[in-house]
Amino acid sequence: MRIILFGPPGVGKGTQAKLLTQEFGAVHISTGDLLREAVKNETPLGVKAKQYMEGGNLVPDDIMISLIQEMLSSENARKSFILDGFPRTVAQARALDEMFERMGIALDGVISLRVDHDVVISRLSTRRMCRKCGRIYSLSQLENGQITVCTACGGELYQREDDKPETIRHRLDVYLEQTKPLKEFYRQTGRFTQIDGMQEIGYVHKMILDILYKNKSHV
Ligand code: AMP
Repeated sequence: MRIILFGPPGVGKGTQAKLLTQEFGAVHISTGDLLREAVKNETPLGVKAKQYMEGGNLVPDDIMISLIQEMLSSENARKSFILDGFPRTVAQARALDEMFERMGIALDGVISLRVDHDVVISRLSTRRMCRKCGRIYSLSQLENGQITVCTACGGELYQREDDKPETIRHRLDVYLEQTKPLKEFYRQTGRFTQIDGMQEIGYVHKMILDILYKNKSHV
């Protein structure tokens, strides 16, 4: 399985990618998670990316393209991957196409998740994340006091700096200006499918599986 999960921040790409990874063992490449880890560890990549991320801006293309190139150089990732959060600009998508061509690999599909803007804003502003494993929770799960730490790893739950209201609006503007045009780019490849991300998590997962089975008989 080699797919791109596409859509605005908060649409559920990370959640769906994790479900697919559990089921198929594909390598989940989340550029947001990779960058957050780099920021946390204060690596040279993290130091460069931090200011862009906190402001809700995109990290420059050259940095992102080298990161993906590095990720795709592993044998496992080349066989089966789910890209989550990359590409986010037309320049990144073109560079990815060139990488695939050089490596002789073909993409099975681009699956785009769509939700209404007000839902995205509400999901992002009530989202909490595990500092250790990146698992996502909603504030309503925490409010009744049943969940206080990550149920998967016991890590601390926190609100991402870029999930604060002033940054959320900016991230959505950045999505509309720089990332949404990619839909047209991928529609022309004929392997682009859009699904309704407003549905319940399990239902969205099933729709993704249906698309994958249709695209490829051996998934
Ligand atoms: P995410 O967790 O996918 O919402 O990503 C968090 C932040 O990481 C984004 O707001 C960007 O600052 C940065 N980022 C992640 N992926 C990319 C990308 N493909 N291109 C540029 N910046 C990215």
